[in-house]
Amino acid sequence: MLPHERYNGFNVWLQNHFGEKVHRVGLNAGFTCPNIDGTKAKGGCYFCNDDYLLGKSFSKTDSVETQLDKGIAYIRERFNVSKFLAYFQSGTNTHAPVQELKGLYEMSLTKDGVVGIMISTRPDSLPEDVLDLLSELNEKTHLWVEMGLQSHQDKSLDLMNRAHSVDEYVKAVHQLHERKIRQVTHMIVGMPGENEEDVFEGLSFINDLPVDGIKIHNMFVPEHTVLAKWYREGKYEPWTLERFAKVSAEYVARLRKDIVIHRLNATCPKSLCVAPDWAHQQFRIVNAVHDELVKNDWTQGCIYKSNIL
Ligand code: SF4
Repeated sequence: MLPHERYNGFNVWLQNHFGEKVHRVGLNAGFTCPNIDGTKAKGGCYFCNDDYLLGKSFSKTDSVETQLDKGIAYIRERFNVSKFLAYFQSGTNTHAPVQELKGLYEMSLTKDGVVGIMISTRPDSLPEDVLDLLSELNEKTHLWVEMGLQSHQDKSLDLMNRAHSVDEYVKAVHQLHERKIRQVTHMIVGMPGENEEDVFEGLSFINDLPVDGIKIHNMFVPEHTVLAKWYREGKYEPWTLERFAKVSAEYVARLRKDIVIHRLNATCPKSLCVAPDWAHQQFRIVNAVHDELVKNDWTQGCIYKSNIL
């Protein structure tokens, strides 16, 4: 069995669902974030480098439509694929008036080969009118909504200035589920103040919710963040690759089988990465997790335990 066959990975899941390869086209629609612009708070999450996460360093000269056209043309030629998901990736992609959102999402569906949309947002940025719009979209296309949770503990969310609560996340999960909208949750492994026990407790919390997908992130320290300041002051020490790989592999083994793994790691651009020194090496990280899966002969869900009796 090949290492990636040991879990329900998103690329294979898409291929099975659509009968052929599907690629995501990342888009920067210029959205900011309620945790930066003062709607909810200011300053952002303490690990957020907004140049990177809001795509400020990307070219702003292209409209979203042009970005999509260019992305499709590039991926079509480079990878010889003809189906795409328009991925509203940078910032909080529901943080705008609903008519503006509708125009953007619907524009993306007019493009040849676009078979669906992914929308990245926060759990506190799904008001009723946006949920209604998402329901409407969900009726006519393949839709995923991504939400960052990062930790199942309010004390960790507060420590990192997330400016939303675990309860807000749980409410959003159920609102999306009631509308039959696929959802994917981001969780961080190696948050300041958290250890293995916290990570697996968080996993167990996710397992018991109706989530459809997960993104597992290794905590890294980007430049120009509060976390970088803490690191330089000796207040935060990132996990080693070995520790992350061991925990992530066990995470996969404990994860509910039907949850689609959209990503096993996050990478930080080398130029922005303060620490650890492996956080920009995507293949090295994925290989380390794969090696642990193989070494333990683990497959997704092989040691899953439900808390629901
Ligand atoms: S929610 Fe995302 S974009 Fe907003 S501050 Fe946090 S990490 Fe940055």
